[in-house]
Amino acid sequence: MVFFCFLVDQQRQVQRSKPAAGICSRCGGGASVADMKTATRFCYVPFYWKSWRAIVCTFCGAVLRSYQH
Ligand SMILES: [Zn+2]
Repeated sequence: MVFFCFLVDQQRQVQRSKPAAGICSRCGGGASVADMKTATRFCYVPFYWKSWRAIVCTFCGAVLRSYQH
């Protein structure tokens, strides 16, 4: 039997976060500065990681601003 797998997805993880000034433009929730880590997976096997920092909403998770290194 042969399986073809074309499933690529991304998982976003918050490594750590701390409160930041500002409110979410989408829901009005509080913002926080978060160190993010995005893992790109192919067939559930992570093959690429990217660390980045962003200001995210603590309530709805929206990315308000991101700092790419
Ligand atoms: Zn929000």
